[in-house]
Amino acid sequence: MPAARPVLDGDVRTDVVVIGAGQAGLSAAYALARTGVDFALLDSDAGPGGAWQHRWPSLRLDRAHRIAPLPGMDLPDADSAAPASEVVAGYFAEYERRFDLSVRRPVAVRAVHRTDDGFRLDTSAGEWTARGLVSATGTWTRPFWPAYPGRQLFGGRQLHAADYRGAEELMGQHVVVVGGGTSAVQQLIEISELTTTTWVTRREPVWRGSDFDADAGRAAVALVDRRVRAGLVPGSVVSATGLMETDAVRAARARGVLDRLPVFDRLTADGVASDATADHPARSLSTDVVLWATGFRPALEHLAPLHLRAPGGGIVLDGTRVVAEPRLHLVGYGPSASTIGANRAGPRAVRELLRTLADEDAAV
Ligand SMILES: Cc1cc2nc3c(=O)[nH]c(=O)nc-3n(C[C@H](O)[C@H](O)[C@H](O)COP(=O)(O)OP(=O)(O)OC[C@H]3O[C@@H](n4cnc5c(N)ncnc54)[C@H](O)[C@@H]3O)c2cc1C
Repeated sequence: MPAARPVLDGDVRTDVVVIGAGQAGLSAAYALARTGVDFALLDSDAGPGGAWQHRWPSLRLDRAHRIAPLPGMDLPDADSAAPASEVVAGYFAEYERRFDLSVRRPVAVRAVHRTDDGFRLDTSAGEWTARGLVSATGTWTRPFWPAYPGRQLFGGRQLHAADYRGAEELMGQHVVVVGGGTSAVQQLIEISELTTTTWVTRREPVWRGSDFDADAGRAAVALVDRRVRAGLVPGSVVSATGLMETDAVRAARARGVLDRLPVFDRLTADGVASDATADHPARSLSTDVVLWATGFRPALEHLAPLHLRAPGGGIVLDGTRVVAEPRLHLVGYGPSASTIGANRAGPRAVRELLRTLADEDAAV
């Protein structure tokens, strides 16, 4: 692990602060380190790896989607059966060391305020001020639990996909998996190999096959980009791309594991239930466990004092630049919320941010 730079107490002033040292923050910091600008990289986690360090141990490298390498350094050759959490955390640690990125951790940014010439950051390790900001805080710290009636009534176990550590601990129990995203499908398939499951989703899942090529990928990113430019919430990646049809998916379908049901209306003391509709009679199902694989929301609470939310619930961006606050860029949000998207967006955000700061200097 790279030597962490000591966290200083008291006021610290720098030109640019990058918040978050996941894929998005590291790609921005890599670009900043090449400019000679004074910057700080703050991260609330105790160790390297961003969200990857927390992903469930049974998520093997070959079962993750493609993980794009960070700019300037290839991913290591690793056993494809190794946990992605370990491989990526080790890779990030080596990256920080090689490019001397000196992440300050653990430093949680609690609130960002405007000042006359930039921003003041209230953090768990004192106050920082900066002229420009790159916020790259991902989504992992904000698991989304939808509100369903009866959640307090249910006597079984409820857990979120973020807390799932592997199927072994669920052996012998019936598990209802809620959610139509990639994590839901990956965890459902694993669990179904050891115990009985029921899959419920709000909408009929859309599967993508070999016809999902680079053009389709670009179209999906463009769709999210349009939403963000319009100030709407970016929406989930899967809502734009569909679910990937893999060998594991085909095998699970053949076992009947992917026969999905519409999501229930409420939880009961011992399970889940739905009222009768025109399409089906009233239903109820006993279960021991409800696994909420219901996704995550962007971790943006620290930006609340800036009042950036548009009426549509999102933050209006032009690329990564916040339209209402041009000295702030969001990387890993909306169209850049993938490893490949974050890689490209980090350096672009830095170029644009430094141009904005230089233009301000010239105007003085
Ligand atoms: C289960 C799952 C699997 C995925 N698999 C893939 C995949 O295979 N391929 C792919 O391309 N994408 C995948 N993604 C999308 C993935 O999240 C992104 O690709 C990418 O890893 C996210 O990087 P990031 O830097 O934006 O966020 P993160 O990796 O979450 O990094 C954000 C960092 O910011 C820190 N932070 C948060 N808030 C604060 C704060 N207030 N102050 C200071 N620090 C803070 C966090 O501690 C964290 O270290 C997956 C997502 C999920 C949920």
